Amino acid sequence: MTIIANALQAVRANILHATSAANRHDTVQLLAVSKAQPAEKLREAYLAGQTAFGENYVQEAINKQTELADCALDWHFIGPIQSNKTQLIAQHFSWVHSVDRLKVAQRLSQARPDHLAPLNICIQVNSSQEASKSGVALSELLPLAQAVNALPKLRLRGLMAIPAPAKTESEQRAQFQRVRVAFIELQQAGFMLDTLSIGMSEDYMAAIQEGATIVRIGAAIFGARN
Ligand SMILES: *Cc1c(COP(=O)(O)O)cnc(C)c1O
Repeated sequence: MTIIANALQAVRANILHATSAANRHDTVQLLAVSKAQPAEKLREAYLAGQTAFGENYVQEAINKQTELADCALDWHFIGPIQSNKTQLIAQHFSWVHSVDRLKVAQRLSQARPDHLAPLNICIQVNSSQEASKSGVALSELLPLAQAVNALPKLRLRGLMAIPAPAKTESEQRAQFQRVRVAFIELQQAGFMLDTLSIGMSEDYMAAIQEGATIVRIGAAIFGARN
């Protein structure tokens, strides 16, 4: 087995363990975050059964998509979104996790090609109230969710968050819990949401305890980035 295949197997086992420890009977999807990794490493992961990949930089991702055109892959955009990149994102991805303002959502909807299914969207929330972090403030989430939901070529699936790094598992869980509460409030308000995109290499076990349905994992699969 390759190093990447081994790492994937370990991460998958941890996900199953955390899922059953949380008494959950649903499944948690593993998104392999492949920013800064060359296409050969993604191919290695694909040969070990991984099909969903998360990328942060549009041109880097498109280059890899071209190199891996013979593989049936599902591409998720998870990085900060510049308005002038919305057209390429709408053309080249099936999911976007990092929508945090209406202008970007409108542009993605306008640019989504008609022959493709609606673009799956997570709204990125800023759950730790840090001015420097991206993500919409929880107090502004509801109007943004309503506006995104009304756009024809987008399908609002849920929320994404990147909490500030926390030292202990209970601190990690407390941060994720705020996101989960916002998610449940939207569901109770009538939004048909099924996706909570929380948890990275350092904190995915805590995120699964708090209801993550997608974990976004890079270093634990591919090793440290340069
Ligand atoms: C890089 C990145 C990840 C993966 O982080 P790791 O610590 O390598 O698991 C997840 N989500 C986002 C938005 C990222 O930018």
